[in-house]
Amino acid sequence: MPITVDKNLCIGCGACASICSDAFKINEEGKSEVISQENIACAKNAAESCPTQAIKVE
Ligand code: SF4
Repeated sequence: MPITVDKNLCIGCGACASICSDAFKINEEGKSEVISQENIACAKNAAESCPTQAIKVE
């Protein structure tokens, strides 16, 4: 999958879901979860804003 989140690195800050709600949501564990692989461009923006570099976009 091109868009992935490393749950061990994610601190649940919510930045990715604010920037790109197409691809990410904060799940019940308080971690970011990939909900769609469609919007690569916005996922890349979110990856750049992730404070822990938890998001990878291939
Ligand atoms: S921006 Fe990074 S640390 Fe914050 S919720 Fe998203 S994946 Fe987790």
